[in-house]
Amino acid sequence: MKLQFFGATGTVTGSRYLVTEGKTRVLVDCGLFQGVKALRLRNWTPFPVRASDIDAVVLTHAHLDHSGYLPRLIHEGFAGPVYCTPATRELAEILLPDSGKLQEEDAERANRYGYSKHHPAEPLYTERQAERALQAFEPVDFHDAFAIGALRVHFTPAGHILGAACVHVENAARRLCFSGDLGRPNDPAMRPPEPISRCDYLVLESTYGDRRHEAADVGEQLAGIVNDTVAHGGTVLLPAFAVGRAQTLLHLLTQLRASKRIPAVPFYLDSPMAIDVTHVFCRYRPQHRLSEAECRALCSGVTYVHTGQDSEALSADPHPKIIIAGAGMLTGGRILHHLKAFGGDRRNALVICGYQAEGTRGHALVQGARTLKLYGEYVPVNCRIAVIDSLSAHADYVEIGDWLAQFAEAPRRVFLTHGEPLAADSQRRYLEERLRWNVAVPAMGDEVMLD
Ligand SMILES: [Zn+2]
Repeated sequence: MKLQFFGATGTVTGSRYLVTEGKTRVLVDCGLFQGVKALRLRNWTPFPVRASDIDAVVLTHAHLDHSGYLPRLIHEGFAGPVYCTPATRELAEILLPDSGKLQEEDAERANRYGYSKHHPAEPLYTERQAERALQAFEPVDFHDAFAIGALRVHFTPAGHILGAACVHVENAARRLCFSGDLGRPNDPAMRPPEPISRCDYLVLESTYGDRRHEAADVGEQLAGIVNDTVAHGGTVLLPAFAVGRAQTLLHLLTQLRASKRIPAVPFYLDSPMAIDVTHVFCRYRPQHRLSEAECRALCSGVTYVHTGQDSEALSADPHPKIIIAGAGMLTGGRILHHLKAFGGDRRNALVICGYQAEGTRGHALVQGARTLKLYGEYVPVNCRIAVIDSLSAHADYVEIGDWLAQFAEAPRRVFLTHGEPLAADSQRRYLEERLRWNVAVPAMGDEVMLD
């Protein structure tokens, strides 16, 4: 079996790994590069092997840095099936067409302002191409093995978001596992990642390879921020990823309000995508920790904001409230006009939770920036900026070490990916010292024979 790294090396996006066994070629994850421009430009480099030579794609989960290149791969000639869990398929039905729409909008903007090198600028793929890509999806439940040519594959729960899986790929001699993005042992909404007893080789994420999440009680932190802000008549803004974070935040806020730990201010979920995802989340109840009553409370205690017009009206509402809106790293979306409306006033608060990639507005704010470019103009940010790091959907390096410690025996080698260079290297040292395992940090294009 041969393994090649075509992305998520030295960075947290663009997960793409090719597994070759004889004539069988399987691509595990097919992600977009995201973040700074130099990374995004990589999406335009033709795929390193002929797309038509790939037999199948297997997705760990629906986040775009793991699935968002798929419509482009199909455009380049890939014609095989796309295997994933049923929930991943449902989430991809929401995320991929939206990604196509954003690609079209980007191209349109580039043409309008003439800042593309290509005339006319083309989208990476369109909303229609993304919709067509969904027809290739073949959902398979956790633990059900299936064959792709000479390889056998199955999924186990990774705990990161709904549907997220570790992917196990086997030939007659060896088992190769991909952790995908790995969830946490004590997430408020998701169940912990299922332990893996053994594998010969492991491709492991290292997003938080050099950082620990605070042990603080997230509900306590959130209640503190909401109470302070509302006492001053302010509004709390929660930029959140549509998948995962938005549902966790809603659940925590619903619980805090029900137990009267925060006042009865209205919550708004201002993201059509997050609204759709919340409905999917509540349908897959056994896969997460929430009871049916908690799901009902989560869906009924919030006001959904569907239209852009209603969202703008919300920006003009002076009453204390809590707004959850995308995008999670403030790279776009409705959170931007709320930040423009509320960010200048000290009484309001913006709560950043989760990983903020370099080059994003969210990262700039965490680094201390207090002026942001919004809609082409520089806007002062005077509101409180709070960071709740412990709401991350990624295990930190110690939590990953704890998960690995449950393996019955050490893999022959672990490959660390999906981390900035310092994070990956720090996690390598930690795992070598703690477990005495053989750990490597591969580079883009590296290939290894897994004998
Ligand atoms: Zn993810």
